[in-house]
Amino acid sequence: RTALALFTSDLRLHDNPVLHTALRTSDRVVPLFVLDTGIARAGFAAPRRAAFLAGCLADLDEGLRARGGRLVLREGDVVEEVCRVAAEAGAGEVHVAAGASGYAQLREARLRSALGAGGRRLTVHDAVVTVVAPGGVVPAGKDHFAVFTPYFRRWSAQRPRSMPAAPRRVDVPGVPGLPPPVVTAPPGLPKGGEREGRRRLAAWLRGGLARYAELHDDLAADATSRLSPYLHFGCLSPAEVVARARGAGGPGADAFVRQLAWRDFHHQVLAAVPGAAGRDYRARGDRWRRDADEAGAWREGRTGYPVIDAAMRQLAHEGWMHNRARLLTASFLTKTLGHDWREGARHFLDLLVDGDVADNQLNWQWVAGTGTDTRPNRILNPLVQARRFDPDGAYVRRWVPELAGVPGRAVHEPWRLDGARRPRYPAPVVDLAEAAARFRAARGLGGG
Ligand code: FAD
Repeated sequence: RTALALFTSDLRLHDNPVLHTALRTSDRVVPLFVLDTGIARAGFAAPRRAAFLAGCLADLDEGLRARGGRLVLREGDVVEEVCRVAAEAGAGEVHVAAGASGYAQLREARLRSALGAGGRRLTVHDAVVTVVAPGGVVPAGKDHFAVFTPYFRRWSAQRPRSMPAAPRRVDVPGVPGLPPPVVTAPPGLPKGGEREGRRRLAAWLRGGLARYAELHDDLAADATSRLSPYLHFGCLSPAEVVARARGAGGPGADAFVRQLAWRDFHHQVLAAVPGAAGRDYRARGDRWRRDADEAGAWREGRTGYPVIDAAMRQLAHEGWMHNRARLLTASFLTKTLGHDWREGARHFLDLLVDGDVADNQLNWQWVAGTGTDTRPNRILNPLVQARRFDPDGAYVRRWVPELAGVPGRAVHEPWRLDGARRPRYPAPVVDLAEAAARFRAARGLGGG
């Protein structure tokens, strides 16, 4: 018996129920990845993610070769390629991980019908991409949780599923495939792949995790795991990351596991409401402002608010941004400038190595107040936030060289520096008090 294991957002050999079940229930398995031309057409391709993905595929291929197999790589429409390979290999069954996005759900439906027409079976595995499957915990009478805290309570009480070890041997039938793609990675990009992800996870559990609770919001400390791209591509199993963090224990582990629950939370919202990738999850009747100059200043990091500019330049340079900085810049665009969250989400998806439909779109909606935040009208004041989360200004000086000579927290308000000391730096694009009043008026809220 031959089966096909279709890799999607689970580019790993450890704790991979898709590959494990395919191997357990058949004699030979085709480990297949399709460079899906539909993803680019849907607007979700980005050069940094393509480079990271190339690293993931090369690593997966090496891992399979070390076990007597190899990765079969194809390019084209994912459904057509799966059917073609299944026919070439004489495979009767295809295994795949369930995905949350509308695109993944459509892919699953198309696969089921195309394979069924050829007398083949599709088996979809839950809880591969997330720790708890979307729909695995739900409030009475509903299909998903809309509020995080009760979700987290139920999520935390779930018993972990068993985690299969990496296979010892993989026998692959002789079907042709392409060599792993070679993509020149932009400088500074983390190396993709399971081995690198596991190395980073081990280092994180030994090192940073213990102080995560106290430092994770400190912009300059840069003390978060930076595992997000490895989780996005599934080089790491989120269930394994949670289990190992829980094993380490302590307040750092608790705070870290909570963040991973946020990841599951957004996936279960998207799985139930796939349209939330593009439409307001909760319509607030917003009439978003449009201003190309303002949007350009935000994207390019020259709003005149140093903490915002530092964050946007970090994104442009590294393809990654600290979570606190993502909150600040998203709030600045949607609430301070009053621009549509989709405009910002698009820019993030173009640049982020960890760019993820569930986490990006639903975090943007959370910040914009059209999502699941239970306080949708709060505005994050960039000055107050900068003083709190970058108290000495070190984060700003790291990313905004024009201000590198300004000591201490004075760096957050360059407009207050007197003439001779004032560096060449843009004036603020907007007055914060006026912006807050404008936002409150637009939402039909009284007072300041
Ligand atoms: P850590 O602090 O070490 O957290 C560990 C892991 O938990 C992360 O790797 C991530 O998988 C998960 N996580 C942490 N915070 C969140 C969160 N708020 N929502 C969902 N998962 C979370 N994360 C993405 O993976 N892809 C995105 O496209 C993305 N876009 C975002 C856009 C906005 C506007 C905001 C506010 C947040 C976004 N996040 C996104 C969530 C979060 O900012 C990143 O996951 C985090 O900064 C990644 O760094 P880390 O791995 O060091 O995180």
